Amino acid sequence: MSLSEHQAAALSAETVVVAAGRPPRKRDEPVNPPIVLSSTYFGTGPLADGDRGYGRYSNPTWDPFEDALAQLEGADLPALLYASGLAAVSSALSLIPAGGVLVMPSHSYAGSLVMATELAEKGLFELRTVDIADTDAVLELIAPSAGAPASMLWLESPTNPMLGIADIRALTAAAHDAGAIVVTDNTFSTPLVQQPLSLGSDVVLHSVTKYLAGHSDVVLGALVTSDAKIRAQLLHHRIIHGGIAGPFEAWLALRGLRTLALRIERSQASAAVLAERLSRHPRIEGIRYPGLATDPGHERAKSQMKGFGSVICIQVAPAGSRGGAAAADAVVHGLHLWLPATSLGGVESLIERRRRHAAEPHSVPENLVRLSVGIENVEDLWADLEQALKALDG
Ligand code: PLP
Repeated sequence: MSLSEHQAAALSAETVVVAAGRPPRKRDEPVNPPIVLSSTYFGTGPLADGDRGYGRYSNPTWDPFEDALAQLEGADLPALLYASGLAAVSSALSLIPAGGVLVMPSHSYAGSLVMATELAEKGLFELRTVDIADTDAVLELIAPSAGAPASMLWLESPTNPMLGIADIRALTAAAHDAGAIVVTDNTFSTPLVQQPLSLGSDVVLHSVTKYLAGHSDVVLGALVTSDAKIRAQLLHHRIIHGGIAGPFEAWLALRGLRTLALRIERSQASAAVLAERLSRHPRIEGIRYPGLATDPGHERAKSQMKGFGSVICIQVAPAGSRGGAAAADAVVHGLHLWLPATSLGGVESLIERRRRHAAEPHSVPENLVRLSVGIENVEDLWADLEQALKALDG
């Protein structure tokens, strides 16, 4: 189903999201791939490579999305779709050899951190967490002067929710020198903004739930790699642990992907406008957005991203008798257009005070609010934010 190599190489990502994963161009074929609902496939005798076999091994509805995502990330092999981003995290962590060492950002997505911490507590591997923006500190943990080198480096850049930016090129090079595999969670950027494989990573992870599917109506994950040995291990893990995608969700993800370029273009442009205005607002005492020239990650982000994404983090200043956390809650509750909900990357703008989650690392400030900018009119989004911030004065 995939585009021919010749076509794929010549096309821009904005075209690939629309053109990839189409059925053959034959008379009366549908232009969209069908949803295949079958838990099993006809067959006798031993299973050969490429046989579908059973619904946990493969489903034709996964293929178009897996081909399209591989093309977008610049991978030579089809991506692997999973039941959720965390099912993909679980599969990726299974690549760490028993007794190995995992180096992970201290501000990774909380679910990834909880999983790694629990597995480390069971003794499966040693976990070392670090501020991923502090390159020297990460290098020291990858290849310490005393102790074992890392077996896996986990990167998330920008991090969720602190928007820290890792030097992906430098860190992957050092990890490879130490013999480690590098996994990069690219959920916040999508391949249209950042391509970790081209920066040296071995595996790219996505919560497809977010920008790739883009409509807050599915939960899915994916892994992408060009390394055949790694892919075979991941595929085996997916088959045996069973974290597979439902066909409806896979179909919706491809449908969502068709508009990814337009959605990213709009939401990034709006995020830049909102971040600039928020950075000057008297009720905001801190802001992180890599697109701001004053952001500590700005120069690094420019060197490895094709934009700055559409997530902004603000810290709301205390107001009157309200402390920062209460003021942040008041802003979230005072909004009429922004949706107060967890998650990000949908067409609708979402907002959330992150520390409402018990699992959020306590180094994330209590008054930190994460904004996922959607595709609504930017002036409508600003007017809503402005009135909710102004209400703090009352
Ligand atoms: N990675 C990042 C950066 C995320 O933000 C999330 C979810 O918020 C995940 C992974 C987990 O994905 P899912 O919720 O699809 O399991």
